[in-house]
Formats: sequence, structure tokens, C-alpha cells
Amino acid sequence: VDDDETLVRVPFRIHTGEGVLEASVQTTAAPIPVVSVVDAARGLDDALIGMALRKAEADGAPATCRQGCTACCHHPVPLSAAEAHALVSLLDGMTPDRRAAVDQRFDEVRAQVEAAGLLGDLEATLDGAPFERVGAWIAARIPCPFLDGGSCTIYQDRPLACREHLVSTDPASCADPSLGPVRSVPLLARLARALTRVSAEAWPSAPSRIPLLLAPGWARERADEAGVRRGGVALLERLLGEMKG
Ligand code: SF4
Repeated sequence: VDDDETLVRVPFRIHTGEGVLEASVQTTAAPIPVVSVVDAARGLDDALIGMALRKAEADGAPATCRQGCTACCHHPVPLSAAEAHALVSLLDGMTPDRRAAVDQRFDEVRAQVEAAGLLGDLEATLDGAPFERVGAWIAARIPCPFLDGGSCTIYQDRPLACREHLVSTDPASCADPSLGPVRSVPLLARLARALTRVSAEAWPSAPSRIPLLLAPGWARERADEAGVRRGGVALLERLLGEMKG
């Protein structure tokens, strides 16, 4: 094995009010696809979210998110460029029947967004404009195309933004912000933000927030850029550095 391809462990420690999370991520100094860091980010995020939830409970402000509550699945979900490319891989790996059903859901939801007069604003975000009509989106009850029967059909692969959306207030406020303020569970790190920053270095022309609904189309138009590679150790160290920042 070439020295450059020898597997190495990148250790990290995060201090929290609950203790110290000590872990390591295995990678190689050789170039790896930047998109492959999405899996590592998800694993880290899940571990850190578990700690944040235990801390919130101990602090007397536990998360009120429950299985079956789909309020945040009726919000526009932003993806990093790495997640957009990973989503295309996920779609391409589906069976033809499943893929056809998902494509149909994307078409239906897109039609709903257009009917609500929000498609132009959403598409403008691909040119860097902020999406300022979140309230109108929530009011129109526009679902995520992966929501089916009250469940996320890509739960293991759901975006970091979905993982990190945890609240300690009445879930009714997530569905209707006029009912009261929404208070987020304090997170120990924000992997979604870290991955967005890492993505910006790999895909400099990508928007920082790619709407999930438009992500497959955006990534497919840039399929030739999906395989961008960076040294594995450097990539992981960047992600971990941004995570703490
Ligand atoms: S990807 Fe899953 S968790 Fe995220 S908004 Fe869609 S259905 Fe909800």
C-alpha cells in the first residue's frame, strides 16, 4: 500500500457540559471524494445530537420533537453542495419503481411550490439570493418530497439540517410560528454549517444553501464536478475545525 493511502485515524475531542466526546474518524492522506465526507458528518452529528439531547433533558428543557410530528418537514430544507451531490447518488441507487415514485413526488411538490407563487424565489437562491418567504412556505403547508405517511423515507440519509432541527417549545409553533416563539435545543456543534463551509472550498461557485427540492437538478447539471477530491486527512481536519468554530 502506498504510504499516502495508508489508513490513519484523525482524533478529536469536544468539551461539553455533559462531558467530553472523544472519537476518531478513519481516513487516508490520499485524495478522497469530498462528497464521501457527508457520511462522516452524519455520524458525528448523530453522536453530538445525542449528547445535546441528554444535556437539554438534564437542564430541564427537553426536546419536544416526537416521531410523527412532521412540522419541520413542511419547511424549506437547505443542503450543502456535498449533500446535493450525495442526494443524487442516493436517488441513482434506488430501484426503478422507487425512483419513479420519488421523481413523481418531486414534480408534485414543485407544482405546489409554483402554485403558491414561491418557485421564482426558490430558484433565485441558486444564484445566491436569500429565501425570504419561509413564512409563506410554512403557511402553504408544502411538504418535503421525501415525506410519506408521516415518515421520512430517507431517514438514515436525511440532510444535516433535518437532523439539527430540534426544538424545546410546543411543536405547534413549528407549524404555525404565530402561535409562539420556537426555541431550538442548543447544539454542541453545527455539522450542517461546517459541511457548508467545506463544500464552499470544494465547489466555490455553489450557493451555500441549495433547496432540497432543487438539489437533484442542480447537482445533475454539475455531474462532472461531483467527484471533486481532496486529501482525506486534510478534509476531515477542515470539517472538524469548522465544527468547533
Ligand atoms: S428529508 Fe426527511 S426529515 Fe428532512 S424534511 Fe424531508 S421528510 Fe423531513
